[in-house]
Amino acid sequence: NTVFLNGQFMAASEAKISPMDRGFLFGDGIYEVIPSYHGRFVGFTPHISRLHAGLAALSIEHGMTEPAWRALCDKLLEANRPTLGDNLAVYIQVSRGTDSKRNHAFPTGVSPTIFAYAFAIAAAPIPDKAKATSYAVITGNDLRWQRCHIKSTSLLGNVLHYQQGVEQGAQEILLFDREGNLTEGAAVNVFIVKNGEIATPPLSHKLLPGITRLLLLQILRQHSQLNVIERDISYDEVVAADEIWLTSSSKEIAPVLQINGKPVGDGKVGDIWLKAQQLFSAHKYD
Ligand code: PLP
Repeated sequence: NTVFLNGQFMAASEAKISPMDRGFLFGDGIYEVIPSYHGRFVGFTPHISRLHAGLAALSIEHGMTEPAWRALCDKLLEANRPTLGDNLAVYIQVSRGTDSKRNHAFPTGVSPTIFAYAFAIAAAPIPDKAKATSYAVITGNDLRWQRCHIKSTSLLGNVLHYQQGVEQGAQEILLFDREGNLTEGAAVNVFIVKNGEIATPPLSHKLLPGITRLLLLQILRQHSQLNVIERDISYDEVVAADEIWLTSSSKEIAPVLQINGKPVGDGKVGDIWLKAQQLFSAHKYD
């Protein structure tokens, strides 16, 4: 398959990056994952805005614009659809670049390493209770750094939390800050439903501003009468919720049916999930 590296498209086997790249040595970079179905990207503009915000937060100058990213991503789809299929995500990574010295300080006169490739993803989730992919989760204290709003390639904190879930037979972990409030999962944002109210934690440095979260909030507010709120959510509220959802670019809205080994609500995929996924499926490209 065809990938992009530093201004050129090439076979994946041709793409080479120095071990002195700060992405490798320090995790000093930003990444994005943008899903597409049949050639159409979901949330392209907000994904690129978040990428640019992350790069600005790290003072990485890149010279890329949204139209330039669009042309690059479209070309990756075009080149890879014949072999990889019609459901593809584009992964973009921009690191600070390669420097001969391993100094912590930002080097001067270094240009960023820009890498992108396309990979096959599952077909978009279908709003059907019987076909939903559901999740079992555990809970834990959020032990990551205090800049979780930056989509950094330094994912060790998230990797360790995710593994904690795997080792306890779960597929995600819901994390709580020192005040006992829900932040997010290892690779997802979280929503709960109680008595018809849909709630998700407010944006802060404690969680990634998920694009699926953003699109879902917009769609629910624009196209439904459902009661949606961004507010702090305690542990007690999470375990007593009628429904819990995980959101991410690949999962869209995924129902959680078990938390710490106990059923969520009645232990079945919820009615509000169905409504939300129907609306999301109908309006995600708007
Ligand atoms: N939170 C974390 C830590 C993530 O890594 C991700 C993305 O995979 C998300 C939330 C969901 O973000 P998005 O909806 O933009 O995929």
